[in-house]
Amino acid sequence: MSKNVEEVEVKDDTLRATLKLIKQSVELLELSYDVYEYLRTPMRFVEVAVPVEMDDGSINVFTGYRSQHNNVLGPYKGGIRYHPDSTPDEVKALSMWMTLKCSLVGVPFGGGKGAVVCDPREMSLREKEKVSRGYIRAMGSVLGPETDIPAPDVYTDGQVMAWMADEYTMMMGTPAFGVVTGKPIPVGGCVGREEATSRGCVYVAKEAARTLDIPLKGARVVIQGAGNVGGFAALLMAEEGCKIIGISDSKGGVYDPAGLDIESVIDHKKSTGSLAGISDVQQITNQELLALDCDILIPAAMENQITAKNAADVKAKIVVEGANGPTTPEGDQILKENEVLMVPDILANSGGVTVSYFEWVQNNYGFRWDFATVDQRLQEKMIEAFNQVYGFYCAECIGSDMRTAAYMFSIQKVAEAMQYRGWLRNGLKSKQ
Ligand code: GLU
Repeated sequence: MSKNVEEVEVKDDTLRATLKLIKQSVELLELSYDVYEYLRTPMRFVEVAVPVEMDDGSINVFTGYRSQHNNVLGPYKGGIRYHPDSTPDEVKALSMWMTLKCSLVGVPFGGGKGAVVCDPREMSLREKEKVSRGYIRAMGSVLGPETDIPAPDVYTDGQVMAWMADEYTMMMGTPAFGVVTGKPIPVGGCVGREEATSRGCVYVAKEAARTLDIPLKGARVVIQGAGNVGGFAALLMAEEGCKIIGISDSKGGVYDPAGLDIESVIDHKKSTGSLAGISDVQQITNQELLALDCDILIPAAMENQITAKNAADVKAKIVVEGANGPTTPEGDQILKENEVLMVPDILANSGGVTVSYFEWVQNNYGFRWDFATVDQRLQEKMIEAFNQVYGFYCAECIGSDMRTAAYMFSIQKVAEAMQYRGWLRNGLKSKQ
């Protein structure tokens, strides 16, 4: 592959690692370098100021981002997170993952991602509403049901989406709820969207276990994260007959080798906001949790959790990445050497955007599906996506891993769309 444009040095580890994987996949697929040229940078990156009058009368000017990575497959799609540590490079990497995720699971969207640099845990509901409306007022002109469709992400939820849909509708002067997905049911939400990421994780975890001949009944499962994704995944895995032996939140976790009473653990977390003070369990740190002896580990919290430092301690046979980017490239390499079956984020957590797509379709048609329809279609898509990536991984025999296979599988489809749309004047392949 030739390098025909000077590449700027990328300082952010996550973005650098993502670009490396994209480049490597383009090379392995022997695609034209132009494919990498298109994918290595967002098509548009917007930064806005979001001024908010806080409850104490002071003015805070928050920074908002939206990265519109690539729309060759359809409108940009991806969540908006509220986090004090969000950076432009993190948002760009996350938007790249969305392009790959949508392609992988076969929904007709491109990739986008947004953020507001703020700490919603220290804000009142009113302040959060003002931030959400302010973001849409500032960013609304680049969004739209046919252009770019945000959704919930870290520390944003259905309520935030409802405010955003309302503000956008006010701006347009006509109801346009399809501008965001993950909305509450009464304002155009889709049944099952809230738990869709967890359900999707569970469907691929089941497929992965089947592949390795691990019976789910009695399988020992550890989950990092007890929030929207982790908490619900724990309940669903327990319904499948798994033994949830450990679960954590950002402050630490609980462990019982005999299996936790997961319903009461989640109830406790919901009512007290914490996992502290649960009786008859062992309190453990997040590091201890990741090292627990188990069959399936689901990291469903934040980025960069399984790293060069602790990956060798992971004893799970299968890792299912409920979160975006929980494993660093060095962590990945160690897991690969230890023959851990990795179900990578762009596959494992694509249930969220899949049901977002269902929501968008229903909004466009003004029609509502019931839960059984949503769940059946989600299950079909997740099982199909897992087996396509797994099949690709087995067929490639390139000493690769599931993450590389997932990247290759989705980039192949993105590249074909580029070819058909006439973006690749020099052809699809590097060697014609
Ligand atoms: N934020 C979720 C993700 O990272 C959902 C995105 C969406 O539904 O558009 O996949």
